[in-house]
Amino acid sequence: KPIGAMLAEAAARDPDGEALVVRHQGVRLTWAELKRRSEAVACGLLDAGVRPGDRVGIWAPNCAEWTILQFATACAGIILVNINPAYRTSEVEYALKKVGCRALVTAVRHKTSDYVAMLRELMPELAEATPGTLRARALPDLRLVVTIGEEAHAGCLHFDALEAEIDTARLAAIPIDANDAVNIQFTSGTTGFPKGATLTHRNILNNGYFVGAAIGLSKADRVCIPVPLYHCFGMVMGNLACLAHGATMVYPAESFDPLAVLETVSAERCTALYGVPTMFIAVLGRPEFESFDVSSLRTGIMAGSPCPIATMREVIDRLGMSEVTIAYGMTETSPVSFQSAMDDPIEERVSTVGRVQPHLEVKIVGPEGETLPRGGAGELCTRGYSVMQGYWDDAVRTAEAIDEDGWMHTGDVATIDEKGYCRITGRIKDMVIRGGENIYPREIEEFLLTHPHIADAQVIGVPDDRFGEELCAWVMTRGGIVLSEEEVRDHCRGRIAHYKVPRYVRIVETFPMTVTGKVQKFVMRETMIAELA
Ligand code: ATP
Ligand code: MG
Repeated sequence: KPIGAMLAEAAARDPDGEALVVRHQGVRLTWAELKRRSEAVACGLLDAGVRPGDRVGIWAPNCAEWTILQFATACAGIILVNINPAYRTSEVEYALKKVGCRALVTAVRHKTSDYVAMLRELMPELAEATPGTLRARALPDLRLVVTIGEEAHAGCLHFDALEAEIDTARLAAIPIDANDAVNIQFTSGTTGFPKGATLTHRNILNNGYFVGAAIGLSKADRVCIPVPLYHCFGMVMGNLACLAHGATMVYPAESFDPLAVLETVSAERCTALYGVPTMFIAVLGRPEFESFDVSSLRTGIMAGSPCPIATMREVIDRLGMSEVTIAYGMTETSPVSFQSAMDDPIEERVSTVGRVQPHLEVKIVGPEGETLPRGGAGELCTRGYSVMQGYWDDAVRTAEAIDEDGWMHTGDVATIDEKGYCRITGRIKDMVIRGGENIYPREIEEFLLTHPHIADAQVIGVPDDRFGEELCAWVMTRGGIVLSEEEVRDHCRGRIAHYKVPRYVRIVETFPMTVTGKVQKFVMRETMIAELA
């Protein structure tokens, strides 16, 4: 069913139950209030001239308005376009142009981003415009800019002013089919330029439902969501899973802050916590960790990039998330296709991404596209309800990703064992071929993490005249410990095959990262190529 119908159901079932808690804004909304505010904004958007089928962008960090807009657009048959809050002028211009946004909702500022200033730079016409009738040379489709925050801005409408009188008959008259597009999500940009995946109500609401079911969400659960809403992890696995099961969405901060996570879990008695591995590592590494009561936690999801086994164990032992699961997915598949079950044996739960989600098909294919037998390593392909409509306005890339039979080619290398557990060994693009040996960086990263002084490690291939490629490891040490590059290599020698010992080692303070917390290996590669030249 469409997302708006699901919201109406949730509000009818549990009108006074808490739907949304936003700690940094001090906002608390019940399901009835969330429905009312979403419908009021839906009517406001229609009043402002946005029509069903139009695209509306949101360019803001996590906040209550983000979620209200998510449900408002779904109720009005409008397509929400998630724009990365870390984007700068040229990137936002690209994204808005690419999908032809009619309106843009933005925060005023966040960290070093002054969104309104960036928009004025892009569109000098903005300050003079009457909201709703903007005509800017740079962005001809954009008519309206809406701002979230305390202040008013010339030429922009304030978000609160979008809340109009609810016209139930008008909303009910909008034909919305579950197969209509409801959302365009850009991929993380881990391997290059982000691509806009067009997703339907059927795609993402079903996925939210199954993701929530796998961790047993119910009205009794309070899910701490520190991951960005602009990404599928927040808006689908977070918001829509909560909607589908009546659980409470709890946002600790505008963007990831490990201390705020600990405070929120403890003050709100959260039962579930989400994050990419780097977030869990940061939370577990806070010196104040022991002073917080996290005993309410029971489950959660770690996903988004390879999950180190040692981190999973700490999540279970120190955070007490005995029913934690790992999920694997990608923006293009709404996102999740594999997820462990809460009662899977620990061994499988820490070392695999679980089994395939209900109602999906998967296969592993070899280099010629042939389906491999169980246990074989090759490219993971998925098919079923969750596969996106396509990349917005990009038939060429869509045809590269989804074949004629409807299989989505993930670009990830995986194996599936006899019992159906899937292991993701890496991305095809990240595989290093050194002197004819295929090397998956993941394996070396896992090994480096066994060193007591290494907090995190990332391995890449860099071009080499003799071997084609050579291995390079970037290593972050545990709080203040000094480790030499030679010590890292010494640790490897004799413990892993000689060709897997990184030729280059760099001790670093940070890795280049996407806002979703994923390491951008292509940036590391560019840095190393420049350095070695
Ligand atoms: P881009 O496609 O723009 O390069 P991206 O692939 O990181 O970026 P997302 O759609 O956010 O964009 O992420 C999907 C990818 O994340 C998957 O293809 C996979 O490589 C990785 N991933 C997700 N979950 C896991 C997991 N549990 N274990 C290992 N890798 C994972
Ligand atoms: Mg991708």
